[in-house]
Amino acid sequence: MDIASTLVQGAYIVAGLLFILALSGLSKHDTARMGNRYGIAGMAIALVVTILAATIGVNDGGVVETGLTGLTWILPAMIIAAIIGVTVARRVEMTQMPELIAMLHSFVGLAAVLVGWNSSYETEVAYPKVHDVEVFVGVFIGAVTLTGSIVAYLKLSAKIRSAPMMLPAHNMVNLGIIVAFIVMTVIYVAIPHDNDLARQSLLGVMTLMALFLGWHLVMSIGGGDMPVVVSMLNSYSGWAAAAAGFLLSNDLLIITGALVGSSGAFLSYIMCKAMNRSFISVIAGGFGVEGGTAAADTDYGEHREIQAEGAAELLDGAKDVIITPGYGMATAQAQHAVAELTKVLRAKGVNVRFGIHPVAGRLPGHMNVLLAEAKVPYDIVLEMDEINDDFPETDVVLVIGANDTVNPAALDDPGSPIAGMPVLHVWEAKDVIVFKRSMATGYAGVQNPLFFKENTQMLFGDAKARVEDILKAL
Ligand code: NDP
Repeated sequence: MDIASTLVQGAYIVAGLLFILALSGLSKHDTARMGNRYGIAGMAIALVVTILAATIGVNDGGVVETGLTGLTWILPAMIIAAIIGVTVARRVEMTQMPELIAMLHSFVGLAAVLVGWNSSYETEVAYPKVHDVEVFVGVFIGAVTLTGSIVAYLKLSAKIRSAPMMLPAHNMVNLGIIVAFIVMTVIYVAIPHDNDLARQSLLGVMTLMALFLGWHLVMSIGGGDMPVVVSMLNSYSGWAAAAAGFLLSNDLLIITGALVGSSGAFLSYIMCKAMNRSFISVIAGGFGVEGGTAAADTDYGEHREIQAEGAAELLDGAKDVIITPGYGMATAQAQHAVAELTKVLRAKGVNVRFGIHPVAGRLPGHMNVLLAEAKVPYDIVLEMDEINDDFPETDVVLVIGANDTVNPAALDDPGSPIAGMPVLHVWEAKDVIVFKRSMATGYAGVQNPLFFKENTQMLFGDAKARVEDILKAL
């Protein structure tokens, strides 16, 4: 290895270490900013070194070509991508982040498919059979990630229904594709390298099969389980990048892909545990899940309503208040008004705390990000498990745009699509005020019996406007 290659490898190790520090920093609120900085620094090093290496023609195996060949391809591509990236990032609302992330995962999948196909034409490789397996695995993971992420994008942006689609024998279909993939990989490795037609045809059929599998896996998953799908696709995109790294002989891509892949898999596991779902069932596209039935026609009785002045009166007389925000707080952009209300109540001596469900909103940590943005102190923002036993001693709960995450049907109705998912036990408090615009269902599409309980009152309207009304009345 010459000096240039050694320097490139050294820089890649530094970037890899910075990525590990970034992940570690992102695991806690107070170190998250630092974690982001490490990540940015790591990515900057990775980009600069990769561009330089392409300019002078260095790769893992040493100097491959010299001159500006690489740069003439990379620079225009980067400029176009940067313009698209900046435009999209400026336009996107915080509430559209999950679908943007799903879309970005699909690009990683597409890149892995293209790199795989491109590599399949390479003739001068050290270990042709190993390379064949890398091509097949890379294209397979990439194609599953590509269509899976597109379906996730469509479901998250409500362009298609979020209800699970169950084809007859869907489990057998998935299993059949996995078995066919293994058999095809063995055949692909056995086909002589001069038989281009047979090799490309087999790769083509496998690509189509994997594209179908990605679509089918995510179509089979219901709205309530989408959080796990987002983190699972994040994991797949990491493995797709790692596979591309093997094909391009790029150590940094392998390290980064493996970091994203394994941390995404672990996040999926944590979310499955938080939602009381089987990890295997979700990664296998709803394997073993028969699709719950929403009790849409159940008559829960009449709901009661309250106005902002009444809510202000209740809060004025309260000692303990818990706020449980959900996706509606994000759409209403009510976090600053909620932070202001918290400040006013705390100044009056009320003990205000937040209860955060692990899948509230549309992104892992969505509510925490919004509350941090509005400068709500971290020490009053508690996880569901930390606060769930405290509701019976609470005077007032403010449910701000949350629905599925406070739905008692998850515990009481075994036929519900969200059955078994742990929820915040808000109904155990003395009074519950629910902020939403109508009696519409939440993301999982099931009615919420909480809204009809004796101690619940609905405060209809946009959450931000209603919280501001309460502030005025206080
Ligand atoms: P939900 O999505 O269940 O409900 C949100 C509620 O907010 C709706 O009922 C809506 O009612 C109300 N709302 C919407 N806009 C406003 C507004 N401007 N003002 C007041 N209220 C509003 O929210 P949760 O956070 O409780 O649950 C999250 C759901 O999303 C779960 O099912 C979860 O599985 C799923 N999910 C979570 C992901 C994650 O990673 N966190 C990712 C993907 C899915 P109305 O229309 O009547 O106002």
